[in-house]
Amino acid sequence: MQHTVTPVGIIRSCFKEKFAIPRQPQLAPAARGVLELLPPFDQGDAVEGLEQVSHVWLLFLFHQALEDKPRLKVRPPRLGGNKSMGVFATRATHRPNGIGQSVVRLEGVEPGRLLLSGIDLLDGTPVLDIKPYVPYADSIAGASNQMANQAPAAIAVQWGDNALPQAREHALRLGEPLVELIEQCLAQDPRPAYQVPPAERVYGVKFWDVQVRWHYPQPEVIRVLEVVKD
Ligand code: SAM
Repeated sequence: MQHTVTPVGIIRSCFKEKFAIPRQPQLAPAARGVLELLPPFDQGDAVEGLEQVSHVWLLFLFHQALEDKPRLKVRPPRLGGNKSMGVFATRATHRPNGIGQSVVRLEGVEPGRLLLSGIDLLDGTPVLDIKPYVPYADSIAGASNQMANQAPAAIAVQWGDNALPQAREHALRLGEPLVELIEQCLAQDPRPAYQVPPAERVYGVKFWDVQVRWHYPQPEVIRVLEVVKD
């Protein structure tokens, strides 16, 4: 059976590239975005009642990880990228139908727009459906996953002399919690698990319209070097 799906909206996100997006929602509460609803869902009727809800499930398309050939096994970054697992045992982006799901905080509801935080979604992500989080059904006491029982350990994030004032200035300009966004995302340690970079190697990523650059002065410490407009 084949079935065609059509997006109900598109995500406008602080994340402009896949690198340094947290592996799951809620790991960076300062990660904000807007879900712009598409016709016919861009009218107030489609979101009536949602103002009573604190979180929503988003079903979306991993539009930058779509593949023609299905994989039975994947190598999740969480396991260091060198151990394979059955695709259905993981939350990897390479999936049979390219469908992802994230529970995110609903900060505001407007006709045609949902204001979101705690997202793990790339800018431009097509959203296929939106469902309210239902605490009594969606939160299961005693649930376990032996591969992912706890959030990944955070690493230390330090600021270089110029980087913090730069980040504060851009935060004011953007009206966004940019300092917190950088700290929360980099604390997840975006480098591939198998990489132990030399201290001189500089990494970078774009959040909103700024480039954030950092290095690892020690293996488990990040130092932010600069935050500059792209
Ligand atoms: N919470 C979702 C889930 O469990 O289905 C996503 C988990 S997936 C491990 C999270 C990663 O997906 C992020 O780190 C980011 O790099 C990637 N990602 C987010 N949006 C994407 C998109 N539209 N296309 C491809 N990759 C995406």
